[in-house]
This record gives sequence, C-alpha cells and structure tokens, in this order.
Amino acid sequence: MPISSRIHLRGPAKKCERCGLSRVIAEFDTCPHCSDLDDSQLTLLLDQTESDHIKNAALGRKLFVAAVVAIFILVLYWLIVVALAFHGARDATLNPTASISTR
Ligand SMILES: [Zn+2]
Repeated sequence: MPISSRIHLRGPAKKCERCGLSRVIAEFDTCPHCSDLDDSQLTLLLDQTESDHIKNAALGRKLFVAAVVAIFILVLYWLIVVALAFHGARDATLNPTASISTR
C-alpha cells in the first residue's frame, strides 16, 4: 500500500528527525516514511523529496506568473470597457443623433 494512502492528517503531527517528513503521532509510533529503510534507501528518499520540492516550487512560480498575466488581462479588458463606455457616453452627450441608428 502506498504511503500516501496510509497517511491521513488526523491530529497533531511530528516531524521525523531522520527524514524530515511529518507523521501523525496518534496513528504511527514510528515514521512510516523511513522506519523500514536503510541508509542508502533513506538517501534516495531524501533526494526524491528534494526533487519534489524543487518541482513544486517551479510549479508555484508558473502558477504565480499565470495569475499575474490573468490579472493583467482582466485589468486591461476592464480599462477598454470603461474607455469605450466613456467614449460612447461622451458622443451621445455631444451629438445625440450619433447614437441613434439610421435605417
Ligand atoms: Zn522518517
């Protein structure tokens, strides 16, 4: 059974001094991540954990940039809509017949 399906956050957690990962104190007496690993397997686990952190940080940066671009597009769209509405209102005030369509 994979570790991720065995770990549920149900209560206070404690950080393992050996691997640095957290475990729920009420559910695990020993660390479910590293208690059955030897030193070489622990090194692989730590390398994998660090690689996952780097990938998550890169994903976070990409999502931040996407959010900034989305906000910029929304603000630009809002400015265009407000400018067009203001321009249309000004034309209707200065020349009331301009806003009436001729058929
Ligand atoms: Zn551990």
